[in-house]
Amino acid sequence: MQTLLADFVRSSRLPHIWCPGCGNGLIMGSLIRAMDAMELKPKEIAIVSGIGCSSRAAGYLNMQTLHTTHGRAVAFATGLKMARPELKVFIITGDGDSTAIGGNHFIHAARRNIDLNVLIFNNNIYGMTGGQASPLTPQGKKATTAPYGNAERNFDIMNLSKGAGATFAARVTTYHLRMLDKIIKKGVENKGFSVIEALTPCPIGYGRRNKMGDASDMLNSYKENSIPYEKSKTMAPEDLVGKITVGIHHEEQAPEFVEEYSRRVSRALKQ
Ligand code: SF4
Repeated sequence: MQTLLADFVRSSRLPHIWCPGCGNGLIMGSLIRAMDAMELKPKEIAIVSGIGCSSRAAGYLNMQTLHTTHGRAVAFATGLKMARPELKVFIITGDGDSTAIGGNHFIHAARRNIDLNVLIFNNNIYGMTGGQASPLTPQGKKATTAPYGNAERNFDIMNLSKGAGATFAARVTTYHLRMLDKIIKKGVENKGFSVIEALTPCPIGYGRRNKMGDASDMLNSYKENSIPYEKSKTMAPEDLVGKITVGIHHEEQAPEFVEEYSRRVSRALKQ
């Protein structure tokens, strides 16, 4: 029987609690469309989330869902993938959850190249807890913990993922939803650790404090400042300041961890 898009949503949990203008629902919609395009059934998809505004999506998705502890979604997902390798496993996480509290789990899962799909809802701030700076808050931007502008440099999650060993890394914004649908599908097709960074407006905790206008202004700013990653390679560094490079940044083939682990165990048991 055909799965309807509505079957992917737990309607009993609606209305959602995201603020008006929040981009999180746009990413959730992309994930649903990508799963539908791949003809996956809700029971074939596992969603593991951490803590934060983004991670509320696990409660709204009618799939196999685990809403776990702060920063630990990758660790839970690793155990799940080892036990149930046939599942398509997604980690739904925010910028703070994935790169601060969960940073260590993130880099080691990338190093292992375990077949997980990390969907980072990057709103550049800790939204749920009141607007504190995260490792993805750009230098100079204001946060409750950086009232005079963030003095720290932010991570480039694409470089971090590639350096740690991820075999797929892509960046998109919530202005580019059709691209996001396709990139989620490509991430799932990659047999290994796939990182998808989706920039999403938090008009309440980030935009308002930084005088970025309302949600539509923030989406327009994504439109105006985005450059295809391939084109950016031909541009001078000074022309890329403040720009968002969108598209696939990195793809490579490498042995996948669950398969590698299983091969070694089988070989040892035969000896
Ligand atoms: S605080 Fe920001 S990220 Fe959280 S729900 Fe509100 S707009 Fe969305």
